[in-house]
Amino acid sequence: GDVLLEADGVGKAYGPTEALAGASLRVRAGEVVALMGPSGAGKSTLLHCLAGIVRPDSGTVRYRGADLATLSDRARSALRRTDFGFVFQFGQLVPELTCLENVALPLRLNGARGRAAAQRARTMLADLGLEDVAGKRPGEVSGGQGQRVAVARALVTAPSVVFADEPTGALDSLNGEQVMQLLTTAARERDAAIVLVTHEPRVAAYSDREVVVRDGRTRELEVTR
Ligand code: ADP
Ligand code: ADP
Repeated sequence: GDVLLEADGVGKAYGPTEALAGASLRVRAGEVVALMGPSGAGKSTLLHCLAGIVRPDSGTVRYRGADLATLSDRARSALRRTDFGFVFQFGQLVPELTCLENVALPLRLNGARGRAAAQRARTMLADLGLEDVAGKRPGEVSGGQGQRVAVARALVTAPSVVFADEPTGALDSLNGEQVMQLLTTAARERDAAIVLVTHEPRVAAYSDREVVVRDGRTRELEVTR
């Protein structure tokens, strides 16, 4: 596929801490890339730079050829809402809303009317085999189900890239594998790329490519799938 995201020599420091020290990465349309490496290596910071959430001190991040630093704050937020989806470790579902309303929320933020958003959210939940939890609140479903709903929410806007930061970090290994299976299958069916942060080899095994981040730098791993 075409190159969607391109980080080139990205550096980012937090005070005296050099989180990234010249990290480079390409993500092509539809591919699943796993960022591996020890805690504190810079994986989340790289993900945040790629997603336009953190501004690099040096280097560039391009999305479809456009340097994110040249976009206005508005344009960058709009891009995040329309082209990117996000799955985090936990705490991403709004507890006061039902699972259906949670999945409809990104559509509402993009301007969809309530009924249209609900209908598309319902279809997405059904496509992922989650119709049973539609009317429940996040506190009434299991951790694994909650992460599946988060996957539905990340994909409902038909993003080009899903950013998943330790999406299985709060789950046991069986639920973690099921969430990865769902996330990667659903993303591939929709031609969405995934940038996955994990330190678990069994989770990274769902990717097409593994990139090791160490001391703020990136190194491609040769893996045979
Ligand atoms: P990883 O995801 O590989 O665990 P991070 O990108 O979270 O690594 O962090 C890289 C380094 O940057 C760590 O030393 C971390 O403590 C530091 N860091 C990350 N975010 C911040 C922040 N907002 N403020 C200060 N230090 C940070
Ligand atoms: P800091 O100055 O501490 O790096 P921030 O990273 O939060 O603070 O962002 C400062 C400014 O950079 C804000 O206007 C923010 O919208 C913008 N910004 C955030 N992410 C990016 C990015 N990926 N590329 C360019 N600018 C960004």
